[in-house]
Amino acid sequence: MSEKRRGGCLCGDVTYEISGNVSDAIACHCRQCAKTSGHFAVNFTCAPDQIEIADRGSLTWFRSSDDAERGFCNRCGSSLFWRSESEPDFYVAAGSLTPPTGIQLGQHIFVGSKSDYYGLDDDLPKSETV
Ligand SMILES: [Zn+2]
Ligand SMILES: [Zn+2]
Repeated sequence: MSEKRRGGCLCGDVTYEISGNVSDAIACHCRQCAKTSGHFAVNFTCAPDQIEIADRGSLTWFRSSDDAERGFCNRCGSSLFWRSESEPDFYVAAGSLTPPTGIQLGQHIFVGSKSDYYGLDDDLPKSETV
């Protein structure tokens, strides 16, 4: 996809544009993603310099672990981004992207931490941790 992908939060205070290729979507079933998303989190990744974020003052970063932080809109509460000092990729919530996204769900990670109220019955690769 050569045109830009666009997305943003529910209220529209935080929007973004992404140029170039992005990864397939990754479903993360860790406890942190469960808490912050309300279910499990699905993100895709790009390089930090591929994304341009427009923020009307609502984007807030929450330090969720020693080397990572999560970006969300403090007006509408949308979970949008994840970035880590130990990882080069920038994570973007797949649901915040305006369809058609041009991406597909590609794998499940941290399935060893997933909650017990849902099952996973697709054929996608699954890893217990990362
Ligand atoms: Zn918002
Ligand atoms: Zn996670």
